[in-house]
Amino acid sequence: MNREARIMTVTGEIDAFELGFTLPHEHIMVDFIGARETGPHRYDRAHVVETMEPLLAELPPLGVASFVDCTPMYLARDVSILAELSRRTGLKIVTNTGQYKPPFLPDSTFERGAEEIAATWIAEWTDGIDGTDVRPGFIKTAVEKGMLPPVLRKTITAAAITARATGLTVGTHCGCALAAREILTILERHGVAPRKWIFIHAQNEDDHNAIVEIARRGAFIELDGIGPGTEEKHLKPLLKLLDAGLSDRVLLSHDAGWYRVGEEPGGKKSSYTHLITDFLPMLARYGVADDTVRAIMITNPAAAYSIG
Ligand SMILES: [Zn+2]
Repeated sequence: MNREARIMTVTGEIDAFELGFTLPHEHIMVDFIGARETGPHRYDRAHVVETMEPLLAELPPLGVASFVDCTPMYLARDVSILAELSRRTGLKIVTNTGQYKPPFLPDSTFERGAEEIAATWIAEWTDGIDGTDVRPGFIKTAVEKGMLPPVLRKTITAAAITARATGLTVGTHCGCALAAREILTILERHGVAPRKWIFIHAQNEDDHNAIVEIARRGAFIELDGIGPGTEEKHLKPLLKLLDAGLSDRVLLSHDAGWYRVGEEPGGKKSSYTHLITDFLPMLARYGVADDTVRAIMITNPAAAYSIG
């Protein structure tokens, strides 16, 4: 890790080595109603904070220092809630700029060009998000399986422009090697190196050779659906990457949570602890060294979310 590197959290910029043990892909709140209808009128901030605080408070005693919230705008990204929960629990929380995929894209994304879209994301970096002084720590995007349709080629291009302007890393909800290769090509065409990209939900790609090839290009491979019953699905690509000497490209997380807007009272939540209490201890049985595990959970997230 570059000792000079910096990371942006919802409570301000920190040195990358301060990030510590990190869950690199989780959610505190999500609203799946769609871009046209979502908004702060759909939830009560105090209720969200009260509901989610106990789940987050479980993490510091387990040694977790930081938490990356991957909910993008138009899916109920609410940075005032994230900042409040960070202050209450002591967890460092990272949020994002960028947009998801239809039906979670606003009409303006279909109407505008990539430069114009990027300008609004870059403005969140320079001016803060939603009138606050909270700034994004990465750029979230999303695609479907297969080749990219025009609107998603446009959002990925906007992400590339934003990454160039800000130094932020791009993460894409992807789970498909074909789409991953197309995204890397767009990013590289705009001068964004593969090491500035996170292949989110890579465990959903069954071709593990393709995952290794994408890691070799330099991208981060995020195996992020870890929970009770999904160990095997994550273990196979993980061991393949470790055998290939690519442990420095791996990110592990639950993609868990979350307060479900529109469900009372906030829907069914899943905890953020299985990875720490069950999955990581299991790795020793497969001969994975403690130092490797620590590097995956500490060094890799710091490298992935470093600015620049
Ligand atoms: Zn997610």
